[in-house]
Amino acid sequence: MMAQTPLSTPHPRSPRVLRRPLLAALGIARIRALREGALPLAVGATLILSACRTADEEAAATMPEGPYLVVLGNAQDGGYPQAGTKPGPAWEPERRRYAVSLGIVDPETGERWLVEATPDFREQLHLLDAAAPVDQIPGLAGILLTHAHVGHYAGLIHLGREVMGTRGVPVFAMPRMREFLATNGPWEQLVRLGNMELRPLEDGVPLHLNHHITVTPFRVPHRDEYSETVGFRIQGPTRTVLFLPDIDKWERWEEEGTRIQDVVAGVDVAYLDGTFFADGEIPGRSMSEIPHPFMVETMVRFRDSPASERSKIRFIHLNRTNPALFAGTEERRAIREAGFRVAEMGEVVEL
Ligand SMILES: [Zn+2]
Ligand SMILES: [Zn+2]
Repeated sequence: MMAQTPLSTPHPRSPRVLRRPLLAALGIARIRALREGALPLAVGATLILSACRTADEEAAATMPEGPYLVVLGNAQDGGYPQAGTKPGPAWEPERRRYAVSLGIVDPETGERWLVEATPDFREQLHLLDAAAPVDQIPGLAGILLTHAHVGHYAGLIHLGREVMGTRGVPVFAMPRMREFLATNGPWEQLVRLGNMELRPLEDGVPLHLNHHITVTPFRVPHRDEYSETVGFRIQGPTRTVLFLPDIDKWERWEEEGTRIQDVVAGVDVAYLDGTFFADGEIPGRSMSEIPHPFMVETMVRFRDSPASERSKIRFIHLNRTNPALFAGTEERRAIREAGFRVAEMGEVVEL
C-alpha cells in the first residue's frame, strides 16, 4: 500500500525535496502539478517541466489523489540518444529521452502498472518509484504490452533471475504476443521460472485493472513480424486516454473501417504515433519500409477539426531524427501553433 504521496508534502525535508536531484538527473528538472482548469487542455493535472518556481509554488505542487498516468518515455524504441551516437551535446543528461512508456497509478489502492517494458525499464521503474513510491520490488500490479518490437517489450529481461528475480508479475499481452513470449528464449525462461505470469488481452475486450481503471486493447495495422499490434484505451473515473504509439499510415486503418478522427472524438487525451515529423527525415533510407503517420499528415488530417479536438493530441514515440523531440525547434513551434502538443516525460494526466 502506498501512504500519502510525498510529492504532496510541503515540508522542506520531505522526500520530494530529496528526490529533486534524482529527477533532475533524469531530465525532469522541476515538477509542477497544475489543477484542473489551469491548462487550456482536457487534462486534469499535468506535470510541467518548469525552470523556475517559488517555494509557494513548490508547496502547492501535488500529485492527483485519484488514479493518474505518468509519461515515463516519449521517444521511439531506440530512445535518445540512440546507441552509436558519437560523443557530443546529444549525451547531455537533460537531453536524454526514454523509449515510449506510461505508468498508471492508483493512489487509493497503492497499485501501479507499466504500459510497455522498454530497454529503458531500469530508469523508468526508478522514475515511477520517485513519483509513486511503494515498499515492494518491483511493486507492479502488471505490465501491459502493445507488441513485439524491441522498444516495447525487451525490458522484461529485468524481471529475470540475473536482475530482480521477480515472482509472478502479471504481463498482459495479445494471443500471438503471449505465444511468442512463451516459446522463445530468453522470455520463455521468465515464464517457466515464474518471474512473470502471462495474462490475456483480447481485441476490444475491456480489462479491469481494478474497480477504478479499465484498459481496452484494440488492434491496429503495423509491421507484425512476431505479434499483433494494439493500442490502448485507458479509462479512469473521470477521463479516457488513448495510447497509440505505433501504427502504419492512418489510411490503412481507415481501409479497415476506423477513422482516427472518430477515435480521438471518443477520448479526452490522445497519445498518438509521432515517430517522424515529415518525409525525408532519415537520409539514405526509404521511409516506405517503416510506415508511420508523419506528424504533418496527422496535423493536416485534423486541420478542420475544432481546436478542442486538436488539443487532445499529444505526439509520442518520437524518433531520434524528429526535430520536434526538443522544445525550441521550428517544428515544435509549428505543432504548438497548429493546436497540438508533444508528450513530455514526467507529464501526468488524471484519469
Ligand atoms: Zn515502437
Ligand atoms: Zn513497432
